[in-house]
Formats: sequence, C-alpha cells, structure tokens
Amino acid sequence: MSTYDLIVIGAGPGGYVCAIRAAQLGLKVACVEGRETLGGTCLNVGCIPSKALLHASHMLHETHENFAKMGLMAGHVEIDWQKMQGYKSETVAGNTKGIEFLFKKNKIDWLKGWAVIETPGKVRVGETTHEAKNIVIATGSVPSALKGVTVDNDAGIVVDSTGALALPKIPESMVVIGAGVIGLELGSVYARLGAQVTVIEYLDAITPGMDGEVQKQFQRILTKQGLKFILGAAVSEVEVEDGRAEVEYELRKDGSKHEIKADVVLVATGRRPYADGLGLDALGVQMTDRGYIKVDGHWATSVPGIYAIGDAVPGPMLAHKAEDEGMAVAEVIAGKHGHVNYGLIPGVIYTMPEVASVGLTEEAAKEGGRKIKVGKFPFMGNARAKAVMQAEGFVKMIADAETDRILGCHIIGPNAGEMIHEVCVAMEFGAAAQDLALTCHAHPTTSEAVREAALACGDGAIHV
Ligand code: FAD
Repeated sequence: MSTYDLIVIGAGPGGYVCAIRAAQLGLKVACVEGRETLGGTCLNVGCIPSKALLHASHMLHETHENFAKMGLMAGHVEIDWQKMQGYKSETVAGNTKGIEFLFKKNKIDWLKGWAVIETPGKVRVGETTHEAKNIVIATGSVPSALKGVTVDNDAGIVVDSTGALALPKIPESMVVIGAGVIGLELGSVYARLGAQVTVIEYLDAITPGMDGEVQKQFQRILTKQGLKFILGAAVSEVEVEDGRAEVEYELRKDGSKHEIKADVVLVATGRRPYADGLGLDALGVQMTDRGYIKVDGHWATSVPGIYAIGDAVPGPMLAHKAEDEGMAVAEVIAGKHGHVNYGLIPGVIYTMPEVASVGLTEEAAKEGGRKIKVGKFPFMGNARAKAVMQAEGFVKMIADAETDRILGCHIIGPNAGEMIHEVCVAMEFGAAAQDLALTCHAHPTTSEAVREAALACGDGAIHV
C-alpha cells in the first residue's frame, strides 16, 4: 500500500492536467486509469482522432475543390482507408505516449486499473488499496443512449462516436442522429470521403445554443458541401437488416412518420457523465438529477477530501474546461487559489470552415435584457481569406451598447478556432470593442476580420 497527497481517478484532460499541476506544486501524486493508454476520451476516442480524420478528409476535399483552380493538377486522388486509419492511430499514440512521458518526468505514479473509492482517503485498484489525503474524480463521460436504438460498434452499422472513428470501411450512406458538434464533425469527415450523409435533428436548428445567424450560415455551408438535414424530427427506432440500417423518424410539425436506410447510423445525441463503479452511492456523494457529481466553487463534493472535475461535473463537456478545472483544483488542494472563468470558455467546431464562439450570443444578451451593439464583418472583405479561397462566413462581435465592453464573439470562417483566442484574452482583460479596433493587426491575416468586426461596433469597418 502506498500513501499519496493526491490520487486522481481518470487520466483524461481533466485528470492528467490535475496530476501534473499537483506534482509541479510539490505533492506526491498518483493517477488511476483503467484504459490501456493515458489521455482519456479526448486523446483516445475524441478530440484527437476526430481532428486527424477531419484534417485528412479536408486535404482530400481541397484536391477536389481547389487544387485545379490553383493550377495544381493532382489527377484522381485515391483513398487508402487503412492507411488513413493508421495515420489517425499514430497521431493518437504520439499524444498518449506524450502524457506517459510527462507522468514520468513529474514522478506521477500511473496506477493501472479501475478505481473504487472505499472510504474518503482510500482508493482500491485491483487487489491493492492506496491511501491519499485527497482524491480527485475525473472519470469523464460516455456517449448517451437513445431510446429505441442499440449501438454495436463492433458490427460497425449502428455506432456511436467511438465506432464512427474506426469504421471498417467508408460507407456509401450514413445517417447521423443529432446535429451537435460531434455529429457534424464526423458527418463532415464521411461526406468529404464520399458518403451521402443525412443529419436528423430533433430541434429546428443545428448546433443548439449557438448564435442564430451562425447556425443558419453554418447549415447553408454544410448543405453546399453535400450534407442533407432533416430538422424537427424525432428518431423512434433503428433496425438492422441484411447489413443495413433503417431509421424511423417522426416529423414534429405534423406527426408524419418516415424511414430512411443507410449503411451506417451514427448516434450522436450527446454524452452523459460517467462515475459508474466508483462506489459514490455508498460514500454518500451527492449527485445532480442529471447524473453529474455535485461540486461547490472549489470542486469539492459533498464528502470532505473528495473533489470532482471535467465532464463528470456540470458545465460544457469540453477538454479545455476539464483541463482548466484540473489545474485549478490542484492549486486549491495545494493551498493556493484556483479559478476558472466559466463565462469565457470558447467552443469550437472543427469543420471547414471552423465555427468558434465565446461569451454571450446576440439572443442570450437580448434575453438577459442587455442593450447591445453588434459588429459584423464578412470574410469576403478579408484579403487572406480570399487568397486561400475560404471567404465564406463572418465575424460577429457583441458589445455593450453603453460601455462598449465586449460581451461575446462568434466566428464562422477559416481559422476561427485560433482567432477566437484574441477575443478571449481581450474579454479576460475586460476590453472594449474599441480596444481591439485600435490594436494593429498584421496584414494579410484572417485575424484582421476580428478587428474589422470590432471597428463595426464603432464608426464602421473599412473593407465593406
Ligand atoms: P475523459 O477524457 O472522459 O477521461 C476520463 C477517463 O477516466 C477515461 O480515460 C476513463 O477510462 C477513466 N476512468 C473512468 N472511470 C474510471 C475508474 N473507475 N478508474 C480508472 N479510470 C477511470 N472536446 C474539446 O474540447 N474539443 C474537441 O475537439 C472535442 N472533440 C471531441 C470529439 C469526440 C468524438 C468526443 C467523443 C469528444 C470530444 N470532445 C472534445 C470532448 C472531450 O473529449 C471531453 O470533454 C474530455 O475528454 C473530458 O475530459 P475528462 O478528463 O473530464 O474525461
């Protein structure tokens, strides 16, 4: 039996970041992980493999769409699916091994196996019980089930995101249930690789919660790229017959029933927090009615000495939110001050174009009764975006009508996921739109569009 200052359960972005920061602060740390590799959902079956496939399929799309326009006569580009899968797996392995290296460098013990919390201060892994002054639960989330639908990733016909990242072959047709981030990213991958992709969404708009104008433009662009959308539709059943799936759905507006057949159905209707098997019931750890672990402002659960972070606790299910909480809770446990600004967590969709947002949407600002001004700038007016043939989309900045303070920013366009950060930093410092408008931006960059949107909050953008 070993004794630690801290045992972290789960080595996803929340858990491994927490372990590293705690070790850097001088604590004796162990991290329990039941998977074969470190990095959690994000590195193994989430952010990283999906971005590898998005990148590879985007390259293919470029050869079809833009190469000839630039005088690059590539001819017919063949897809070797096994090699593409290999590239994805190597990308994953490079990243997960990187965490193993960081654990060794920071003298963090990786306790391999599934953890059970016996009592506060005691964590059992396999036959061995380890002692710890503090425990952080970072056990993440898993895909949520949909009534009437049985997922079987091994069969590769009705799959969740994990199955969709490793299909045995590229399907000719795919139905994606759920028009959220994961469904649209993976739907885009297969559409670019040649599948006929139909997205069925219960609500009347894609990417719920996102700025309304961005939603509409995003749907238009994806439709142009070949994705089909059936909105306002409730899937009631998916049946598998002769190696194909049949999806039954009902249109909410008139109750009419329809069917659609596909080689593969991807169920992407969200994720649920995961804390199964930890023994939290017996310990009396309080949960929310939606199955998240309840925590206070310092990520402490209802049981002293036990903390929780990441997807297992309320808030956006995002890797960087989990990482920030991991760092902050380590600081708290080490007797310092940990802080996460939940109002400033960016959200990015890594399609092409990318979609990125931070802070309030126009709708949320108005619902909250705020007087706002909106500065918009289209990428059609941005020289760099035109030069790289990615001039669809816009930057939309929301600022307080009286103080000019930036309240939110929504970008659909090239590099949106990178560009959003200058707005995050500006907002973190309480900047006004005028502050960004007066900041010199290098030319030609797509970031100039952010400045132009800030200018549009004042006396007007230049290039429109
Ligand atoms: P996880 O990463 O889920 O890690 C939890 C770990 O705990 C797992 O490895 C699990 O095996 C382990 N564990 C659970 N129970 C036990 C136990 N009892 N004992 C030992 N180990 C245990 N987010 C982004 O920000 N950007 C993206 O681009 C993005 N893309 C995504 C794409 C897909 C397809 C998916 C599915 C998710 C994506 N996400 C993305 C979400 C992101 O992966 C999660 O928000 C993030 O991984 C949450 O981190 P976490 O540390 O809370 O938990």
